[in-house]
Amino acid sequence: MTDFRITILGNGSAVPTRKQHPSAQLLQYGHRRFLIDCGEGTQMQMLKYDASRKNLSHIFISHLHGDHYFGLVGLISTLHLFGREQPLHVYGPEPLEAIIRMQMRASDTRLKFPLMFHVLRNTDVIYEDNVFEISCFPLNHRIATWGFVFREKEKERNLRKDFVRRYTPGVEQMHLIKQGGDFALPDGNILKNEQITLAPSLPRSYAYCSDTAYDKNIVPFIRSVNLLYHEATFDDGMAEVAAEKYHSTARQAAQIASEAGVGKLLLGHFSARFSDVSPLLDEAREVFENTLLSKEGMTYTVPDSS
Ligand SMILES: [Zn+2]
Repeated sequence: MTDFRITILGNGSAVPTRKQHPSAQLLQYGHRRFLIDCGEGTQMQMLKYDASRKNLSHIFISHLHGDHYFGLVGLISTLHLFGREQPLHVYGPEPLEAIIRMQMRASDTRLKFPLMFHVLRNTDVIYEDNVFEISCFPLNHRIATWGFVFREKEKERNLRKDFVRRYTPGVEQMHLIKQGGDFALPDGNILKNEQITLAPSLPRSYAYCSDTAYDKNIVPFIRSVNLLYHEATFDDGMAEVAAEKYHSTARQAAQIASEAGVGKLLLGHFSARFSDVSPLLDEAREVFENTLLSKEGMTYTVPDSS
C-alpha cells in the first residue's frame, strides 16, 4: 500500500513557545510531498525532522494569519539559493501572491524556478493526478480561511491470479477488466467481473481544519475521512473565548469528528497558555474516543478503513 502520512512540523497557535512552533505539516503520499501551512521557522523544522525539501511541489496556505504563513518567504528564498529549477505551486487566499512578490522585489531576488500562485475562491478540487486529489472548503474564522481534504482516488479492481494464469488475457482486456468489465470465453460463455477480480482497498483520506470556530457546516466536507487534524486551541473553561476568537475547544473538535464519522482525530493548534495539553485530550475523548494529541516531529500514518 502506498505510504500516506503526515509529519507535524508545528502545532502551536499564534505565540510560539520553546516546545511549540506555529502551524506546518508535511504530507507524503508515495513520492509526493505537500506542505500544509508554513508558519515561521518551518524550514528549520524541516531540517530538524529530516523532512526533505527535494520533492516539495505544492504548498497549501489555509489563511493569512501570520502563524500560518510567515515562514513561506524564507522557505522560497532557500529553495532559490539551492538552485531549484522545478516549479513550485502555492495555494492560498488572494493577497498572498502580492505579499510574497513584494518581498522578492524588495530583496531583488530573481527566482530561477517558476513560482505559481493559485487563489482559493470556491469549494473545489484544486489538485489532481492519476491517483490522488486535493480539495478545499471554507472554515469559519475571523478572516477567509480554508480547510483541505487530501484523498486517494478510487482504485482499479485487482485481477485474480488464478484467472490470469488460466486464461492469459491481453493487455487491453486486462485494462477493461480492472475497470469492471467481464471476460468472454471462446465458447461464448461470460465470466462476470466479480468472479475474476478482487475488490481494491478503500481510498484513504486526510482532512486539515485549522483555524475555525465550531461549525457544523464543515461536516459534509470531511465526512468519513480516515484521519482528521482539527484545531483545539482552547479547553472547556475557555469556550466563550474560543467563540469570540473563532477558534474551537478540544471538545468541539471531537464533536465535529463524531458528527463527521471520521476514523481518527488528531488535535493541534494548542494555545501557548497550556504547559500541559493532556486535559484537552481527556475532554475530547469524552466525546470521541479515537483521539490523539499531535506532537511536533511525529509522523502519523493515515489509517485505512479496516
Ligand atoms: Zn488564524
